[in-house]
Amino acid sequence: MLAMLAHASVAAPIADLSSPPPVPAVPAAPPVAARVNDARVIAADNEPGQWLAHGRTFDEQRFSPLTKISDANVTRLGLAWAWEPGTTRGMEATPLVIDGVMYATGEWSRVYALDAKTGKPIWTYDPYVPGAKGRDACCDVVNRGIAAWEGRLYLGALDGRLICIDAATGKPLWEKQTTDTSRPYTITGAPRIVKGKVIIGNGGAEFGVRGYFSAYDAASGEMLWRFYTVPASKSGPFENPELELAATTWSKDSAWDSGLGGTVWDSMAYDPELDLLYVGVGNASVYNRAQRSPGGGDNLFVSSILAVDPDDGRMKWHYQTTPGEQWDYTATQHMILADLEVPPRPDANGHVGAKSLRKVLLQAPKNGYFYVLDRTNGELLSAAPYIATSWATGIDLVSGRPYQREEADWATTSRRVTPGIPGGHNWHPMAFSPKSGLVYIPTFESVYEFIPDPEYRWKPGVINTSESWSGIAERLEGFEAVAKENVRTHLTAWDPVAARQAWRVELGQGIPAGVLATAGGLVFQGTTWGKLRAYAANSGVTLWQGDTGTGVMAPPITYEVDGEQYVAVVAGLGGSQGGHYIRFPNENPGRILAFKLDARTPLPPMPRAPRRPGTLGNPIQAPVLEASAETLKQGRALYALNCSRCHGLGVEASGLYPDLRHSSADVFASWKGIVLGGAFASRGMASFADVLTEQEAEAIRAYVAERALHEPGWLEWFGHQLAGRVQFPARWLAD
Ligand code: CA
Repeated sequence: MLAMLAHASVAAPIADLSSPPPVPAVPAAPPVAARVNDARVIAADNEPGQWLAHGRTFDEQRFSPLTKISDANVTRLGLAWAWEPGTTRGMEATPLVIDGVMYATGEWSRVYALDAKTGKPIWTYDPYVPGAKGRDACCDVVNRGIAAWEGRLYLGALDGRLICIDAATGKPLWEKQTTDTSRPYTITGAPRIVKGKVIIGNGGAEFGVRGYFSAYDAASGEMLWRFYTVPASKSGPFENPELELAATTWSKDSAWDSGLGGTVWDSMAYDPELDLLYVGVGNASVYNRAQRSPGGGDNLFVSSILAVDPDDGRMKWHYQTTPGEQWDYTATQHMILADLEVPPRPDANGHVGAKSLRKVLLQAPKNGYFYVLDRTNGELLSAAPYIATSWATGIDLVSGRPYQREEADWATTSRRVTPGIPGGHNWHPMAFSPKSGLVYIPTFESVYEFIPDPEYRWKPGVINTSESWSGIAERLEGFEAVAKENVRTHLTAWDPVAARQAWRVELGQGIPAGVLATAGGLVFQGTTWGKLRAYAANSGVTLWQGDTGTGVMAPPITYEVDGEQYVAVVAGLGGSQGGHYIRFPNENPGRILAFKLDARTPLPPMPRAPRRPGTLGNPIQAPVLEASAETLKQGRALYALNCSRCHGLGVEASGLYPDLRHSSADVFASWKGIVLGGAFASRGMASFADVLTEQEAEAIRAYVAERALHEPGWLEWFGHQLAGRVQFPARWLAD
């Protein structure tokens, strides 16, 4: 269940979601802005003031050669401009900056073109994603960015459309539905453009979809090829020949209904010399392998890195990071291409030969190991844990396979596993500095208990992880319980040659934001608590910290306009962690902020969250309902399965989504119309009539009302208000 009251209370400068304008059938006049092509991206270092592609360059290093802002003067950094798009949900985008114009994306797949020098809006584009589609988004209605090519921009919209936009005007030129709209596919990742082909994947593995990625002709929108990452059945059809190999790694009794997952929802990189496109593949669906592929199997190509020929989509090599994955261990995490002097892997006697220059691919997938692969052939060069791991004791460098621990197999028994669901590293992009030789990884320390559900059956329209949701509800009722499992976050500097940590900055609880490295000897990263920081690239010492007000998850970028260097970041919390274990005192306004030397623009004020009901003069309005213990238990399990990923486990919301305990008497009275009738569908709260009966919706209402009446007393509220005077509650200021 998604945003209701909070979403409605913010003045949005963009028209409401219900009235999309028609998309013109004939392309408009020739475009004049954002003239980007392969040659320009390949030569990006010749114009370092631009940010032409998602990871700046095809190798996705997120390293800028700009040096005007450096470790010698970064203390003079100040706010140049801030612009608020009128959003309150998660903001994850990497903006592009092309010839003085910034192109960013925000919630509900909206696109913003701004003057990169002043922050003044040039145009905004709203693809009018139906609000009810928010229900299919596992991890908020976010978007991570846009691609540019020959005057046009390419957007993957949440509802699965690939939309081509005139970069000069913000007007749509064409759109293609890239997904089966009868399945819960979503797109949140940035398309990449290689040789005039738009490469786009999708997400949805938690609900049950079949993963793939496709190439579309950037000019015409015609689909050129599609690569399914998992087979549709044991015996085909094998839409792409690689599926013949994949099918041998699945049981004939696999959970074909669930689609098997393997979604390609984020990372890609391209090597123009080798002419290879690298794609990261996500987790399997359902999670429990004993139920997904009875009898076992590696289950290719889930949790794999694929190298394909961008011309025809044919695979050159693959490497599976987590064979038979059963812990949501995606390999969709950011991949970086670099040329490094590395030793070869040890021979059979353990002997390590001399270092040599290798073309490598670097990834820190969710499973906690940092992989260095030879990207010409997929050979594993090294794999070492960048964070504590309990599912494996190491990786065999000869076979490339992990030594998995029996104790992590949750086929029939609950198991606590590290890293947990967030992974050791999630979507937040890392960065590599060729100067320091270090990779900067936003890392999580987490633990998660996987609880099997022997009764599990695939059911359309709900989370299909195969976990016991009544078990999860019992274990994780409220913030404190969830927070205990998401222990710490940090910025980890990793030496990919020595395969060990160089240094680490502790960030406390929260979300470790994406990273930018620069030739000025700096690493930039935002914080959950409303700061942008610059660290010394060699040591991790904090050299500067500026206010963003709103918490940051997205990676900063840097660019130059009229000879001045800027560092910009998109701010706004949300995403998969935002709803769950952090309570926010403010309204979470989305912001795009740009900093430069000696600037003094004041930060826009932070709107406070509305006063919480259940406090002085503001009573809880939940009705006292006659509900049996059995009904409350049923409501709790149904709430956990259907409602918790937005409104919070145990009905404790972060403040980004409505806390249902604080619902008005009207909402409790109109419950059926909202939950089953879809009364708030346009705001993101879809009808659940396809998965809940009237009795079940009522059981959820009873559970929510019961939780509301157990709202913590005024003492906690008083502490919250007192700490609120200094903007953030005191325990957070330690950060
Ligand atoms: Ca997942």
